[in-house]
Amino acid sequence: MRPIAIMAAMQEEMVGLRSALQGARTILSGARQFTMGTWHGHHVVLVLSRVGKVAAATTATALIERFDVNSIVFTGVAGGLAEGVNVGDLVVATEFVQHDMDASPLFAPLEVPLYGRAHFPTDIALTQSLKTAAQGIVRNPGQWVDMDTLHDLHVRSPKVHAGLVLSGDRFVSTSTESQVLQQRLPLALAVEMEGAAVAQVCHDYDVPFAAVRTISDRADDGATHDFNRFIHEVASRYTCALMGTWMANR
Ligand code: SAH
Repeated sequence: MRPIAIMAAMQEEMVGLRSALQGARTILSGARQFTMGTWHGHHVVLVLSRVGKVAAATTATALIERFDVNSIVFTGVAGGLAEGVNVGDLVVATEFVQHDMDASPLFAPLEVPLYGRAHFPTDIALTQSLKTAAQGIVRNPGQWVDMDTLHDLHVRSPKVHAGLVLSGDRFVSTSTESQVLQQRLPLALAVEMEGAAVAQVCHDYDVPFAAVRTISDRADDGATHDFNRFIHEVASRYTCALMGTWMANR
């Protein structure tokens, strides 16, 4: 049976995911640790992608070429862009755009050269199942994260959103840049640094791909405030709970 891949961008998420696997064994390849095991009876390969599009693309390629995965799910954090996408919410991607791709005037701005497109959709069925799992997590966040922590970090009643997510090799941490992105791509819900790269690789190999992100910041002047605390105390726990729920219901 071909395994399902779970890619995470951050070490904090990986620790919890790894401890959930049964019969875990790790293989080192291309400066990545691939951990194989079973979770709720499914064969799984877990890997830390590291940060940015290149790291994410090489990791995704290794998962497909070397581990023959049947699908890839990406989890991580992202900055909220659209109004109402707040810290503590979950965003399930329906499509990705590389916001820093610009080969104009040879190609339209944002278009990935020789693909004839800027938008890379995620797999519909995988995305729907992630969305269902995400809704289960936000229904009762206090089950996974300490209520005082959520209160401190101003997480009130988290929501699940589904739509366009942007990726680029920049941590967006000024209100000016966030506004530029929102004006350019008004449908964008969130911004991060890896998803569009994995979407492009999965498009090339025809491997189903889905992604879910916990909103850690608003990609504005306050983006780094509480960022690390949020990852340690909220996002890493959400990720584990969410992926566990998703696996259990497959
Ligand atoms: N402290 C982390 C690195 C964080 S880099 C560590 O040491 O591992 C930021 C990560 O969060 C990237 O993986 C990116 O995808 C995501 N992210 C969260 N908020 C973002 C924002 N405002 N802009 C871009 N990426 C963001």
